[in-house]
Amino acid sequence: MKIICIGRNYAEHAKEMNSAVPTNPIFFLKPDTALFKDKNPFYIPDFSSEMHYECELVVRINKVGKNIKEKFAHKYYNEVGLGLDFTARDLQQKCKEKGLPWEIGKAFDNSALISNDFITIDHNNINDLNFELKLNDNIVQEGNPSQMIFTIDQIIAYISQFITLKKGDLIYTGTPSGVGHVSIGDQLKGSINGNVFFNLDIK
Ligand code: MG
Repeated sequence: MKIICIGRNYAEHAKEMNSAVPTNPIFFLKPDTALFKDKNPFYIPDFSSEMHYECELVVRINKVGKNIKEKFAHKYYNEVGLGLDFTARDLQQKCKEKGLPWEIGKAFDNSALISNDFITIDHNNINDLNFELKLNDNIVQEGNPSQMIFTIDQIIAYISQFITLKKGDLIYTGTPSGVGHVSIGDQLKGSINGNVFFNLDIK
């Protein structure tokens, strides 16, 4: 399986990062060793002094597809979970400044938290998915698919022009505004429609 992440898919997040709103989806990959599942706590790695959370809806692909048309994209997923795209912002920023790839700041071990549970979705009511992230019981991020610059169907159509999607692949659909750093002792709790999907201690 592979993990594909969308960058800058919420206008307010692009603004807080001082990044331009993209005209096509921006994506990058994390390896399967980045997947962080059934584990707690998250240990902040020594190589970063600015570890950021990015809470994101995560789509699980349910069949193989290539060159998927947007109007058929909904046939390639029916489950959504909640994840964190952990980002070593200090390392990523250095890469950005030099025009280098971001992997050192994005693809490290355990950088892709994924919830155990996924929701079976109704494609006609996808905008009913309200998600939020609490940092130490304070809401820091809130999002909804209606706020995405590129819809999930547009993302699938775009990516599949370049990369064959396979059953079990995960697509992190981008983070809303409110990203920030975590410190030892923090707790991150992610919910969709009021149901807790993960509750993570930071060590
Ligand atoms: Mg992200």
